[in-house]
Amino acid sequence: MYDENQLPRLLAIDDSELIHKLLQVRLQGERLELHAALNAKDGLKLARDLNPEVILLAIELNEMNGFELLSRLKQNPQTQDIAVIFLSATNHMMDRVRGLDLGAVDFIAKPFEVVELKARVRSALRMQHLVKMLEHRAQIDSLSGLWNRRYFDQRLSQEVNEGLRHKRPLSLIMCDVDRFKRLNDQFGHPFGDSVIERIAHILSAGRGSDIACRYGGEEFGVLLPSTSLERAMEVAERQRLSIESQVWVGHPDLVVTASFGVVDIQSLSETATSADMVAAADSALYRAKQAGRNRVETVHGIRSPESTGQST
Ligand code: GH3
Ligand code: MG
Ligand code: MG
Repeated sequence: MYDENQLPRLLAIDDSELIHKLLQVRLQGERLELHAALNAKDGLKLARDLNPEVILLAIELNEMNGFELLSRLKQNPQTQDIAVIFLSATNHMMDRVRGLDLGAVDFIAKPFEVVELKARVRSALRMQHLVKMLEHRAQIDSLSGLWNRRYFDQRLSQEVNEGLRHKRPLSLIMCDVDRFKRLNDQFGHPFGDSVIERIAHILSAGRGSDIACRYGGEEFGVLLPSTSLERAMEVAERQRLSIESQVWVGHPDLVVTASFGVVDIQSLSETATSADMVAAADSALYRAKQAGRNRVETVHGIRSPESTGQST
């Protein structure tokens, strides 16, 4: 996850202890965390474990040259976006071309000048910061500030896979504002927007591990990892009550309500997908609407289509 306050990490991969010592001294005082790997194998492992923003990579390594190591980093989705700066003992133009073609962002020839090294590292860090900020923004819904639908889909499928593999509880709350169209018609879209914002705030006020998303329009999905159905039902009930008891500026008599459908992974079959989980939560939400709105419902005995031969 992108965290603006975390110190950027720089990983140096070089066989020479001397280079690491030099880097340590020369980069002292820079706003970064410096990590060292003395061989390619450790370098690859640290790149995966640390997920550094920038790697300083020696071209000349004993057991695997830097070009090959860079190719491996680029092949792995976990490490492919790390900015790599090549460090080379020679200053051959063809090495620079090859490195840049393989995806390195920059090239420094040894022995390096401190000011140049610092400037190049800072420039790579700046670029990484921008890339991460843009990636993060692409996952956020601008009106509500919640995670958007794209993030929801991707995170739910990841959580469902992991939940099934490790037999870990996982619940999903789907929430839909009641009679929202009427609210827009009566009080105007800007007021409708402010309702979405306030409800988003309520839905995201739970535990830090809960993941509140705007599913679309006036619909929200809250993912609750490691949470049983009973507990998720309690969370949804609290959210329902909180929405119902909001006082709306300029409309003191207005009561806005929402309906909730809750489901947990245990109610699904072992071959269930994230789409099955959304379908189950949706059908629970539908029951809540049918039963008069402003309520929390679940669906019992849900099985995925593969196991029962019927659609949920
Ligand atoms: P129900 O109780 O059955 O959910 O009724 P509803 O009126 O909430 O349902 P419906 O799906 O018919 O209406 C949803 C409305 O939400 C229609 C759409 O204009 C409005 N809407 C969707 N996105 C936004 C938004 O970002 N801002 C505002 N103000 N309105 C939105
Ligand atoms: Mg709706
Ligand atoms: Mg609605």
